[in-house]
Amino acid sequence: MRAFEATQHYFHQAADQLQMPDWMRKLLITPKREVSVQVAFERDNGSIDTLVGYRVQHDNSRGPMKGGLRYHPGVDLDEVRALASLMTWKTAVVDLPYGGAKGGIGVDPKAYSRKEVERMTRAFVDQIHDIVGPDTDIPAPDMGTNFEVMSWFRNQWEKYHGFNPAVITGKPVEEYGARGREEATGRGVGTMAVKLVKRLGMRPEATRTAIQGFGNVGSHAAKFLSEAAFPVVAVSDVSGTYYNPKGLDIAEMFRYILNHQGLSGYNNAEILNGEDLLTLDVELLIPAALGDVITKANAKDVKAKMIIEAANGPTDPDADLILNDRDIIVLPDILANAGGVTVSYFEWVQNRQHYRWSLDRVRQELDRTMSDAFEGVWQQSQESKVPLRTAAFMIALKRVQKATELAGYS
Ligand code: NAD
Repeated sequence: MRAFEATQHYFHQAADQLQMPDWMRKLLITPKREVSVQVAFERDNGSIDTLVGYRVQHDNSRGPMKGGLRYHPGVDLDEVRALASLMTWKTAVVDLPYGGAKGGIGVDPKAYSRKEVERMTRAFVDQIHDIVGPDTDIPAPDMGTNFEVMSWFRNQWEKYHGFNPAVITGKPVEEYGARGREEATGRGVGTMAVKLVKRLGMRPEATRTAIQGFGNVGSHAAKFLSEAAFPVVAVSDVSGTYYNPKGLDIAEMFRYILNHQGLSGYNNAEILNGEDLLTLDVELLIPAALGDVITKANAKDVKAKMIIEAANGPTDPDADLILNDRDIIVLPDILANAGGVTVSYFEWVQNRQHYRWSLDRVRQELDRTMSDAFEGVWQQSQESKVPLRTAAFMIALKRVQKATELAGYS
C-alpha cells in the first residue's frame, strides 16, 4: 500500500473515534504548501543533470514545520506528502512545538560523487531557501542524506540569510549539532520497550527480543535493551539474521559494526534466513529496517506478543487488522521512533540559545518526553478501548485541531 493511503487510513480511524466533521478532516489533511523545483547542477564531467526536488509543508498550527530531506529514487510528491503529514502527527504526539514537513530529491545519491551531491544540495537550497528557516520550516537528515548534507545545506542557506544554525538539524556535533542525536531514536525505542513491558506486568529478563535491522536505530535500540537486561536473541541486517536463544552479545556486535560495514562475517551466533526473524518465537519484535515488512502474508505467523515499530511504516494496514484481532500489541511508529525528532528539537533549542547541553541532559529530557508521550497514549487507549496506534493518532489529531481552532480559520 502506498504510504499516503496508509496514513489516510489511520487518520480516518482516529477521526472516526473523535467524531470529527468532514470539513475539519479536510482542513487537517490538506497540506499548507507543496513545492516542486528544478534541481540542475554540473556533473564532474562537465555535463548538466536536471532532477526534481520537493518540499511539502503540511501543517504549522503548533509551530514551525519540521521534517527530513530524503534523497532516494522513490521520492515523489505522493510519498513526500504522506511523510510530511506523518511528521505533523509525530511532533504532536510527543508534544513538540512543531508542525510537519518533508522534502527530498528523486535521486540515487550513490550514483553521484561526493562533490556532485554537494552541488546538487546547494542547487536545491537555491530553489527553496526562501520557504525554509528557523521560524518556518526546519529540515533534517532522512534516507540518503547525512550530517554532511546538513552542513552544505546550512552553509548555502546562510549565504542568503546570514548566520543561523537553527535552520537545519542533524548537523555534526562540531558544527552546532546536538550530543546524543545519533543514539536518540534507538534510545527512544528502548525507553518505549521498558515502559510497555512494565505496563503489561512482564519482566525485561523474560522478554526475548528480536530486532530487524542493525543500523543506526536497530543497533542503539539493541544496546539500550541489552543493558536493560532484555535478552536480545536475534538481530538482522542485509547480510542475514544472527540468533542465540540465550541472548546475543550485543556489546560485542556493536563493537563489530564500528569496525566493519555491517554484521557480515560476525560468527559468534547462529545464522538464519532473513525473513525468519519476523516470525521467531519471542515476546518482543522490533522492526527497525524497512517499511511494509509485516503484511497480510506473514502477520498470522508472528509469534511475538508485542511489536514496537522503530522503522517508519513497517506494518501495513491489512496486517495491522490481523495483529489487532490476534491481540498482539503494536506500539506505532509515530510514537516509537519519535526520539530522533525530539533530540532534533533539542538541537534547535540549543542553537537558538547559543548554549550547549551535556549528553546527560539530552538523555534526561529525551527520556522524560518519550515517557510522558507513552503514558498519554496508553491512557487514551484504555479510556477509548482502541489500539495504541488509534490512540496515538487521536491525541495528535486533537492537539492539531485545538491549535487550529484557537488560531482561527482566516
Ligand atoms: P540505517 O540505514 O542506519 O539501517 C538500516 C538497517 O537495516 C541496516 O542494518 C541494514 O542492513 C538493515 N536492512 C536493510 N534491509 C534489510 C532487510 N531486508 N532485512 C534486515 N535488515 C535489513 O537506517 P536507520 O537510520 O537505522 O533507519 C531504520 C528505520 O528507522 C527506517 O525505516 C527509518 O525511516 C526509521 N527511522 C529512523 C530514524 C533515525 O533517527 N535514524 C528516525 C525515525 C525513523
